[in-house]
Amino acid sequence: MTHTPTLPGFRRILLKLSGEVLMGNQAYGIDTDFVASLAAEVKAARDTGLELCLVIGGGNIFRGISGAAKGMDRAQADYMGMLATIMNALAMQSALEKLGVDTRVQSAIQMDAVCEPVIRRRAERHLQKGRVVIFAAGVGAPYFTTDSGAALRAAEMQCDALLKGTSVDGVYSADPKKDPNARRFDTIDYDTVLAENLQVMDASAVALCRDNSIPIVVFSIREPGNLAKVLAGDGIRTIVKKEH
Ligand code: UDP
Repeated sequence: MTHTPTLPGFRRILLKLSGEVLMGNQAYGIDTDFVASLAAEVKAARDTGLELCLVIGGGNIFRGISGAAKGMDRAQADYMGMLATIMNALAMQSALEKLGVDTRVQSAIQMDAVCEPVIRRRAERHLQKGRVVIFAAGVGAPYFTTDSGAALRAAEMQCDALLKGTSVDGVYSADPKKDPNARRFDTIDYDTVLAENLQVMDASAVALCRDNSIPIVVFSIREPGNLAKVLAGDGIRTIVKKEH
């Protein structure tokens, strides 16, 4: 394993990938070629000596709120969304293992035939052995999202940062697609994000990170090589942290 410097002091990170990035250029589902390229970036990060936890969303397959909007029971729809995150986790595990990266999936909804349950101490051992741990099914409860799952796992696994790899390259003052004057923040305080309701993660996830002093790094994972750049302290991103 080669060791190149990453963001100063970072030993263990949690990488949250929204489900929609797994779609690649498709309109729905899993683009296996794109997942393979994401896996290569994850491997490169792991090969720098970082311990890596992953949380993957499910929006490329099913979102509870859309099911509820069509008349489904909300909790039932949310459980379907959680199952979608398990499918994505298995797809990423497969892509990582193809590259020779030992990976374990731990699901908040027990599914013994396909993955482990979430057991913090066991996850700790996996990380120590250089395995990537993918936490699936969010927090395992409806009315939450995988962002909250990511914040929760980042806190319990004592990660140094939560990296949110998504389709936009940071946090903006307004929706850049609608407002030409929208500007991207380089860094921003948790409380400003919450007070101004900026679209980073849901409020519960931001508050959990704030209360546990976990910086959130928002960046575009669609751009090849960006994960490595962001980890090296370069690259376009926004860091949500405590104001000094
Ligand atoms: N979900 C849930 N509880 C959780 C995590 C996820 O109910 O702890 C459900 C919820 O319906 C959500 C769906 O799973 O819409 C997919 O997750 P999310 O929307 O967070 O995925 P992303 O937007 O990151 O792709």
